[in-house]
Amino acid sequence: MSHADIIIIGSGLMGAATALFLARDGKKVALIEKERAAMHASAVNAGGVRRLNRAFEEIPLSVAAAEMWPQLLKIVGDDCGFHPVGQVRIAPGEKEFEQLAKRVARVEALGFFHEELIDAKEVRRLVPAYVGSCSGGIVARSDGHALPARTIKAFIRTARAEGVELHTQCRISAISHRHDCFFVEAADGRHFQADAVVNCAGAWGKTIAALIGDELPLEPVALTMMVTGRMERFLTPVIGIHGHKLSFKQVENGTVVIGGGHKATLDMQTEKNIIKVAEIKKSSETVRQHFPIMQKSTIVRCWAGIEGMVDDGLPIIDESPGIPGLFHICGFSAHGFQLSPMVGRLAAALVQGKKPELSLDSFSMNRF
Ligand SMILES: Cc1cc2nc3c(=O)[nH]c(=O)nc-3n(C[C@H](O)[C@H](O)[C@H](O)COP(=O)(O)OP(=O)(O)OC[C@H]3O[C@@H](n4cnc5c(N)ncnc54)[C@H](O)[C@@H]3O)c2cc1C
Repeated sequence: MSHADIIIIGSGLMGAATALFLARDGKKVALIEKERAAMHASAVNAGGVRRLNRAFEEIPLSVAAAEMWPQLLKIVGDDCGFHPVGQVRIAPGEKEFEQLAKRVARVEALGFFHEELIDAKEVRRLVPAYVGSCSGGIVARSDGHALPARTIKAFIRTARAEGVELHTQCRISAISHRHDCFFVEAADGRHFQADAVVNCAGAWGKTIAALIGDELPLEPVALTMMVTGRMERFLTPVIGIHGHKLSFKQVENGTVVIGGGHKATLDMQTEKNIIKVAEIKKSSETVRQHFPIMQKSTIVRCWAGIEGMVDDGLPIIDESPGIPGLFHICGFSAHGFQLSPMVGRLAAALVQGKKPELSLDSFSMNRF
């Protein structure tokens, strides 16, 4: 039986960042992972570091997280490949431009000024390779992109260096709570005991919650990504087109990373997914239509990452209403990468019974 103050299930970015900040507060943390570390969404996502076009409830969290990205060298000893090249969302027509203008007004009314409404001329200046129709757009000039695999590895490396015990190939299969103590058991017979348990199991968050009788409205999905071979440099900011499923960026080595939420077929029994060629085609058609330079590109790899989605698109960051000492930090609904450093800091406070720096009311379990 291994004893810790806090057990964290899942060594993705949410688990690793929470573990790191708890260790910095002097807590003994066991970080438990069913596979090798850095295998899932946190390692294979699109790397978008975006405040632009966030759900209004998520803006304070996203803005606070954005302040941490340029500090990652100090926090985890690696800049995680973060490039603040900006993120642009293009309005192809007047209707979309009006929607974005209303959005910016509402964001500003909330006291945030990172989203800027721009005219078509400024869009074309920022994105000269774009040939589609354009009535303007919005930009967050200090958003950008980073390298997911490097980021998760940096968090895990630092957490371990600061005393977090990482247990890999350790699939949690039972959790019980007796006499103010949690007993956590892995399928291979390993046992752990702690005062608190944090469910950072991503797309498996619902399964982990169910082991102890909690219900989370979270569904796993597999989302597709593609990357091209190296191309001449033609794009600086990260691009979205309002009304289209597209996230599009050219990274430092010249390759172009294309995502946007097209789904793969997912089998949660085997934890394997099958890419649907028709879905990939939709993405590549959007890209080729709007960026003719992409007609010269070759897709060299595609993959899908498994993510936990909540109906309202907002994560769950809360203590279980029925089981004190059990915390659920999951359901990041395909936009948790940017939030993760700040989520780790807030979750570490929450777990220790401290008042988090930001209100977490929008992410509570009461909303369901
Ligand atoms: C294709 C794709 C693109 C994305 N693009 C972006 C983007 O551009 N920008 C952005 O901000 N966000 C993006 N996201 C979202 C972001 O990647 C996730 O929100 C974030 O990584 C979630 O982190 P996590 O720690 O909650 O989950 P994960 O990284 O999935 O980690 C959960 C871990 O829990 C482990 N686990 C599960 N069950 C058990 C068990 N029984 N026992 C032990 N361990 C267990 C899993 O093996 C896994 O390692 C994207 C996601 C995907 C899939």
